[in-house]
Amino acid sequence: MNTKIKSREEIVELVEELRNKGKTIGFTSGAFDILHAGHIDYLYKAKEVCDVLILGLNSDESIKKYKDQNRPINNFKFRAKVACSLEMIDFVFGFEEVNNNINVELIKPDFYIKAGDYTKEKLSSASIVEKFGGKVVLIPVQNDTSTSKTIQKLIELEKLKSFEVISESIDLPKLNEKVKVVFVDRDGTINKELSYLHEPEKFVLEKNVPEGLRKIQDLGYKLVVVTDQSGIGLGYFTKEDMFKVHGQMFKLLLPFNLKIDRIYFCPHSIEDNCNCRKPKTGLLEKAMASYSNMIDLENSYFIGDKTSDIKCGDDFGVNTILVKTGSWGKDNRYPEVKPNYVAEDLLDAAWFMARNN
Ligand SMILES: [Zn+2]
Repeated sequence: MNTKIKSREEIVELVEELRNKGKTIGFTSGAFDILHAGHIDYLYKAKEVCDVLILGLNSDESIKKYKDQNRPINNFKFRAKVACSLEMIDFVFGFEEVNNNINVELIKPDFYIKAGDYTKEKLSSASIVEKFGGKVVLIPVQNDTSTSKTIQKLIELEKLKSFEVISESIDLPKLNEKVKVVFVDRDGTINKELSYLHEPEKFVLEKNVPEGLRKIQDLGYKLVVVTDQSGIGLGYFTKEDMFKVHGQMFKLLLPFNLKIDRIYFCPHSIEDNCNCRKPKTGLLEKAMASYSNMIDLENSYFIGDKTSDIKCGDDFGVNTILVKTGSWGKDNRYPEVKPNYVAEDLLDAAWFMARNN
């Protein structure tokens, strides 16, 4: 048991003793859920104000009440353990309330220290502190290090990952209106085709691709990349290699303020006889489900450079555009399927869509 952890009753007794020894008492509180540099700076500054720094750590239940039901990420035991390891904190205790009125009433700190984003008026405990002759000390914190922002970043990363792993179910909020989607093939349509491309530095965009994608995005379509990566199934490269290639794609598209909404890939070889290798429509069905079945098929498109892309889009019931980049449709696997339009490149495809929007 860590000697820094006390009950609130023990803290009250301790404070009495310390004060008799002429020590000044600082009190601060919070969730300290995922500790970050902002917390550390804050606590060091808090410790500068007083001789003894006491941290009131909110119980898990009280965090749920004043933040939300999904918090804290770390339970009280773990948060307390981390807090106790910090040199600037002298004592830690847990409390159940959502404000510090009772804490302040009992401890009567010389300094009631809070993060500077609270105004003194908003602190319900301030008047109580001053009643006992204590002072409220506000310390500004750096906002870009908040726990909420850290969590948001993790969510974004996780989203990106789960869209790329087709075997995982995607739990997204239900949409209540239809979305227009442009499914875009990758190799030969977005980037220059190379067999079994898996090295990020060899990923080179086809002509007019960012401009085309940007125009499509501006027309109000969601961009969804649909790609066959049989090299994974054949063991030529790994999923991680492919993720790195996609990272390069994001990097090249970033300056154009483009948002690829989802990426679906088929990792199988022909022999696997899966239901997702184009022209099979398995990947598009995944996408459909992830948009809560709200894709407006009649106003959506599939753009690709191969007849298998066109057949895939056609079988799924969306409009199709063949681009004259990559294979130029000369793969001839499904010559019977006719695209709605044959475009010079993605930008020309976007202009066709604009005319028919
Ligand atoms: Zn597949």
